[in-house]
Amino acid sequence: MQTMRAVLFEAPNQPLKLVELPIPLPGPGQVLLKVLACGVCHTDLHIVDGELREPKLPLVLGHQIVGTVVQAGPGAMRFLTGERVGVPWLGGTDGTCRYCVREQENLCDRPTFTGYQVDGGFAEYTIADERFCFPLPAAYTDVEAAPLLCAGLIGYRAYRMAGKNAETLGIYGFGAAAHIIAQLAKHEGKRVYAFTRPGDSAAQKFAMHQGVDWAGDSTLAPPENLDAALIFAPVGPLVVAALKATNKGGAVICGGIHMSDIPAFPYNYLWNERVIRSVANLTRRDGEEFLALAPQVPIKTEVTTFPLEQVGEALIKLRNGQLVGAAVITLDPL
Ligand SMILES: [Zn+2]
Ligand SMILES: [Zn+2]
Repeated sequence: MQTMRAVLFEAPNQPLKLVELPIPLPGPGQVLLKVLACGVCHTDLHIVDGELREPKLPLVLGHQIVGTVVQAGPGAMRFLTGERVGVPWLGGTDGTCRYCVREQENLCDRPTFTGYQVDGGFAEYTIADERFCFPLPAAYTDVEAAPLLCAGLIGYRAYRMAGKNAETLGIYGFGAAAHIIAQLAKHEGKRVYAFTRPGDSAAQKFAMHQGVDWAGDSTLAPPENLDAALIFAPVGPLVVAALKATNKGGAVICGGIHMSDIPAFPYNYLWNERVIRSVANLTRRDGEEFLALAPQVPIKTEVTTFPLEQVGEALIKLRNGQLVGAAVITLDPL
């Protein structure tokens, strides 16, 4: 039996382990991928910390996978051997529930999430349902493309919910998703204000480098009120801070899968048709739209790469806010 190196998550709050596992075999409709790169996401931290409670165990994490097709399972014929594809968080749906049939497959009642209910990309090989893979724009290298697959896609879905009419946009938490979406928002002519952890001058400098109009501590008010705010940090009090900074009719969009509690606030903050909403997962249509748009802007991703054996270190840096841009595990031999 052929084996591969993989990083295994066995139980919450335990260190990840580098192990040898059998190379999986692609089943019907699946492709076997040789992993080239895989992005690290806040959701991985929420799984490791036990905040997301339904992982398959043991589990290979990682849901921003760039890989090449090395073998097609029975009936899989969408991609050629050698073709480069991306695998996102949404790894499968039932296709039949009330949400799937009304084009809300992101809300499917029986979803399969990559690197959560099925093994993901922190390994030399992985398998994926070919219907949920995306062809990737050639303009991006493997490591540059990886953050587009969750930070980019979920960020894009959140950004779209802010509405076309939003002229001023606040972004709370300036990591992987924010740096991608800030470029898109500036491209579309919006005034963009970035908020970071108080005193995080490196993140503020990074935000300015991405073209935002202002960057400052999350405890500060923006230079002008916001038409919409995107919350990418898993910090509930930011929802209230953002709401206080919005104009009438403004929207506060929460992009994360998990967040600390939102404190109570006076109804007056919400009054005048302000909206708070969350963004869950992605649809394949989001992916197709965003991956077509990204090279036109063009969005450039800033990445810090780590080898497979340093997934744990990458997660610690993400937790501590020590990363600039996106963390990506690279499987390329150096
Ligand atoms: Zn993610
Ligand atoms: Zn469904």
